Amino acid sequence: MPTYRAPVKDMMYLLHDVLNITKYSNLRGFEEATPELTEAILREAGKLAEEVLQPLNRIGDIEGCTRNDDGSVTTPTGFKEAYKIFVEGGWQGLSHNPEYGGQGLPSVMYIAFEEMCVSANLAFHMYPSLTSGAIVMLNLAGSDEQKAAYIPKMITGEWAGTMNLTEAHCGTDLGQLRTKAEPQDDGSYKITGTKIFISSGEHDLSENIIHFVLARLPDAPQGIKGLSLFLVPKYLINADGSIGARNAVSCGALEEKMGIHGNATAVLNYDGATGWLVGKANEGIKPMFLMMNSARIGVGVQGLGLSEVAYQNAANYARERRQGRAITGAKDPDHAADLIIVHPDVRRMLLEVRAFNEGARAFAFWAALQGDLWLRSEDEETSRQAAEMVGLLTPVIKGVLTDKGFENANTALQVLGGHGYIAESGMEQFVRDARIAQIYEGTNGIQALDLVGRKLPRNNGAAIRAFFEQLGGFCKDHRSAEAAPYINPLKAAIKDLETATLWLMENGMKNPDNAAAGATNYMHLLGLVAIGYMWAQMALKSLELLAAGAEDKTFHEHKLGTANYYMSHMLPETASHLKRIEAGAETMMAMPAEAF
Ligand SMILES: Cc1cc2nc3c(=O)[nH]c(=O)nc-3n(C[C@H](O)[C@H](O)[C@H](O)COP(=O)(O)OP(=O)(O)OC[C@H]3O[C@@H](n4cnc5c(N)ncnc54)[C@H](O)[C@@H]3O)c2cc1C
Repeated sequence: MPTYRAPVKDMMYLLHDVLNITKYSNLRGFEEATPELTEAILREAGKLAEEVLQPLNRIGDIEGCTRNDDGSVTTPTGFKEAYKIFVEGGWQGLSHNPEYGGQGLPSVMYIAFEEMCVSANLAFHMYPSLTSGAIVMLNLAGSDEQKAAYIPKMITGEWAGTMNLTEAHCGTDLGQLRTKAEPQDDGSYKITGTKIFISSGEHDLSENIIHFVLARLPDAPQGIKGLSLFLVPKYLINADGSIGARNAVSCGALEEKMGIHGNATAVLNYDGATGWLVGKANEGIKPMFLMMNSARIGVGVQGLGLSEVAYQNAANYARERRQGRAITGAKDPDHAADLIIVHPDVRRMLLEVRAFNEGARAFAFWAALQGDLWLRSEDEETSRQAAEMVGLLTPVIKGVLTDKGFENANTALQVLGGHGYIAESGMEQFVRDARIAQIYEGTNGIQALDLVGRKLPRNNGAAIRAFFEQLGGFCKDHRSAEAAPYINPLKAAIKDLETATLWLMENGMKNPDNAAAGATNYMHLLGLVAIGYMWAQMALKSLELLAAGAEDKTFHEHKLGTANYYMSHMLPETASHLKRIEAGAETMMAMPAEAF
């Protein structure tokens, strides 16, 4: 059976040694994020993940959710009790607005918590994470009345949230959406249509579910500019705030799917359901994007969380399984065979996954910190720059962490050989569960196009220029011989990224297919460089702490060992991404559609 240990030590190292979050104590919520408090919270979060959520992961996979004859949905055994513990612990409100009952802690803390929950049980985590996205959106776009009526109950977890975009004929291309909203005399709207693939769409965990639904008003313009956003509760709310009548929204079916069986993916029928407009008419896509942006970093963390738990189980196995002899001579002559950890190829697999995980964790924390600076800094310029950086990095976090998350879960499964393919090991569940993160919240192909088509050119390339400036400054500041093994490979990778950026600017202008054809490679190239930047920072910090006589010598030596692997074996992949980008669209677009 798989196990999970929350990586609290690594998280503390990132928060306090590498990112030094206490230096942001002037930001709202950061004043409380002392090393003592963060460690206490992370340890409690680790306990919740290890002891409450992880033991339900396989049960959820086997049982899945059940739609009952009356349209209600029963979640797997134990989910209800776990949700109660989650709610009583106040976890839903960790980083949300204190004005409505949240604890207002930095969102970088929430990202750490989120990683643990995902590693332990992604299907369960999706219930509160959808609620979290809905809270963020309502907080930014809702009216004061809506915020006061809904956010406090969502922050406690008594009410859950969902997001309803997809319809059978439209997923990526939301402009084709057909669900209708008809204005009523009392200021409400009647919502009619069918949404599919709605995560956490119906369940028995919370007393109410607040659906956020994209729909079209009668006089709305065609396409994406004619979409409005509506708040549609499963149960209407009485004037005194208590739960009222059942609204006309019902679960028509649950999808049978590849993974995340414990999460209810619902077809939702809206039959003249009562809803209220959020934000302005025909501008519904704006708040929905606010919600999606926060959700996209969270989905990236889903890739990381599954990669982490898969790594832990693969590493445990490699230290127990004996097969063959080390190629340089027997390591354990007293045993019939050596441990498989002696084989270079097994180490290659483990290090690929581990070096990614630790680097990607730093990357996700750094991006979340930029998000905190954007939304919490009172200095306008700091906030503006951080917003640009979040815009640039969000598609990279979503696309790269989930592509690699799936690939890594698969690599970790390989470490167990045939036993990894057997359900009891839990490894095949990690692979199946990781797959969806590449698809929802905008497919990874769309993330890459968002990066290259929108985020790169925005404001004359301000964000990517700021990124290059920051990395260039970092390399300049670290010219010692000791830093060279980390800075030199990073410089080479930055050069590949600069060359690719220029190539896309020049050749994408001539022919947009060139930009679209290179987008996925560019996203991965940027991801490799960003994670390389994180590894260089971690390596230099560990060198500094070792020189200062750090207590935990082994931790820092292992950090450096993993940094060396990333720099020598993984970062050089930037060159092959560059070559593929420079190959352009010609060969891709040459054959006619009938040839496929
Ligand atoms: C388990 C699960 C949970 C989900 N949860 C939710 C939810 O809670 N709420 C919700 O609203 N939706 C949800 N979704 C829907 C999900 O967001 C969509 O499936 C996804 O956005 C892709 O849309 P699609 O499936 O229609 O694929 P399509 O849009 O048909 O895309 C098919 C392929 O074409 C590519 N493609 C499409 N357009 C372009 C383009 N312009 N350029 C280049 N490539 C393109 C895509 O990348 C993809 O590879 C969920 C889906 C699943 C499977």
